[in-house]
Amino acid sequence: MPETSKLSSVIAFFLILASIVTLSGCGQQQDDSNSITVYSARQEHLIKPLFDRYTEETGVAIRYITDSAGALLQRLGAEAQNTPADILLTVDAGNLWQAAQQDALQPINSPTLEEHIPKYLRDPDNQWFGLSVRARTIVYSTDRVKRAELSTYAALAEPQWRNRLCLRTAKKVYNQSLVAMLIVAHGEEQAEKIVKGWVNNLAAPPFADDVAVMNAIVAGQCDVGIVNSYYFGRLQKDDPEIPLALFWANQTQDGVHVNVSGAGVTRHSNNPEGATKLLEWLSAGEAQGLFAALDLEYPANPKVKAAPLVRAWGEYRPNVINVAKAGELQATAVKLMDRAGYH
Ligand code: FE
Repeated sequence: MPETSKLSSVIAFFLILASIVTLSGCGQQQDDSNSITVYSARQEHLIKPLFDRYTEETGVAIRYITDSAGALLQRLGAEAQNTPADILLTVDAGNLWQAAQQDALQPINSPTLEEHIPKYLRDPDNQWFGLSVRARTIVYSTDRVKRAELSTYAALAEPQWRNRLCLRTAKKVYNQSLVAMLIVAHGEEQAEKIVKGWVNNLAAPPFADDVAVMNAIVAGQCDVGIVNSYYFGRLQKDDPEIPLALFWANQTQDGVHVNVSGAGVTRHSNNPEGATKLLEWLSAGEAQGLFAALDLEYPANPKVKAAPLVRAWGEYRPNVINVAKAGELQATAVKLMDRAGYH
């Protein structure tokens, strides 16, 4: 979204909010029991259908704004106890971890959420819960690579991939989380060697996004890359014949690197009970299926099935180290990538 329209939507949001407060009567506190405000780093088209359905089912109105995780976090910090936000919804455990570190969230006491969301996909202190899962794994050219040649993230550092690897920029939190998990699996020294090996094997400077990585593979610029599963899904949905496939990495080691899109209740929410109820609703049944399916992700609740296109990629064993580790090791990972010349 361009800055100006972002600004105008922010202004519109506050005008609406101001008018609601005014309408509800001078000197009176705003009645928050029947509405929830969400700050979302997940795009509007991925959340609006769910919010509309929730309002239909419960009569609870949901207001929301969308922006980058960094901007929303900054805003939560600036607004402090005056924030209208009840829920922060964002992608990547690295960002959720940051939010908890900044004291922007509060612990959620919900046996329902604890039952629905596996332990490794939520904050150990229950300040946030994963709601959908994305695998960050190997993508390859079905024309130039055989599945038998592939095995692990680490193996992409081997000389056989010289000038054949494409990666997204190290500035993206997705890669910082991936490298954090490499550190957990191999230790810092070995992880650095692996990342150096990747840099040596690059066929082109790192790309701005995952789709550019896949386009480069299709164009013949490189043969393998590492991407989030849903970006592959989007390309495959547009072109079922696209000469690319996903390979589930590390299946005989620690499992494929997964991350979450997830949410927490803000520290200064006026309606934490209502916010928790919305998160519980999102964690089960049709809502959980739709939350994942709208972005071609995996449901975080293992009882809910993924969309058919996603299921067709086959089963994988995920790395079940708590995704919060990605946050804890983020700074270490960033420094390591810098030393290895991965930018
Ligand atoms: Fe993404």
